[in-house]
Amino acid sequence: MAEFNIIQQYFNFEQKASESIVKAIGDDCAILEIPKSKQLVTSVDTLVAGVHFYADVSPRDLAYKALAVNVSDLLAMGANPLAYTLAITLPENDKAWLEAFSQSLKDTSEKFSINLIGGDTTQGPLSISIQVFGLVTKHKAVLRSGAQVYDDVWITGTLGSARTALDVNHRQDLNEFESSLWNKLVRPEIPYHFAKKKFSKFASAAIDISDGLYADLSHILNQSQLGAEVMIEALPLDEALIEVAGIEQARQFALNGGDDYQLCFTAHKDYRNKIHRHADKTNTRVTRIGKITAEKNSLKVLLNKDDYEINQASWQHFLTTK
Ligand code: ADP
Ligand code: MG
Repeated sequence: MAEFNIIQQYFNFEQKASESIVKAIGDDCAILEIPKSKQLVTSVDTLVAGVHFYADVSPRDLAYKALAVNVSDLLAMGANPLAYTLAITLPENDKAWLEAFSQSLKDTSEKFSINLIGGDTTQGPLSISIQVFGLVTKHKAVLRSGAQVYDDVWITGTLGSARTALDVNHRQDLNEFESSLWNKLVRPEIPYHFAKKKFSKFASAAIDISDGLYADLSHILNQSQLGAEVMIEALPLDEALIEVAGIEQARQFALNGGDDYQLCFTAHKDYRNKIHRHADKTNTRVTRIGKITAEKNSLKVLLNKDDYEINQASWQHFLTTK
């Protein structure tokens, strides 16, 4: 396929100039200028057809999700999105598919104020790799290792819906609740406005929830060398999720379902009001679900103060998709 034409036609779209982007698409490399007071933060994620998404997923949803899950990693560091590169492998030169993908990628780039600055285009089984770059004020990145004993544990948005959607996938006759869950899976709403400003002023540690709350909060605990208690009855669940799965299954999925892309963060108790005000201003749901304890690597899940039994294995790639 004519690689150069594809790049020109679909990936060299018009974007707002940014002071930090000296050179974008068109040369051998892109060039970024890092202001003296900032640090460059970077991460890459690959989505492979048949493993991370269904090969027949809509190209609009795919472009949105591929970029959103990467921006989500920047947000979890307290970084502001700046730029990204896209390595895309395409089975064929499918005009309608590429047009839809490109338009959605452009819209999503604008939504998250992030510019496409380069990439690679090859032929083969469909796969999309996006590397993001963000800026954080020097030494202000929110690390997984920053939690302190007695900090509160918080969650943005709701949990478990994306995992439930996997069970209703590909049925044609989805009811209103099921389609709203399906939307959460294919177009996860990441807490962009909430995390973009002020996040590092109150968050002591953070992670974006891609593998389920239990697994991802455990990463914070491992790296902070601490423990936590989580109250299962406090977990924020979608009404649609409870409707479709029932409260018990909903709680299990909220703990162990993947693909939610909400933030789990810790913060000192003194910030409770500040966090609620900031959440109100940015139209974000936040929920305090527990607290950090001194017991190393111990994650206790409690229901009415008793131990809660967890019966789902954590999300694992290669197991849950066809
Ligand atoms: P090279 O052979 O030097 O790697 P390429 O032909 O792969 O050059 O790419 C030419 C230019 O187009 C480079 O600036 C590259 O970053 C950019 N580019 C290639 N593919 C993509 C893509 N899918 N999205 C955005 N930019 C791309
Ligand atoms: Mg190349």
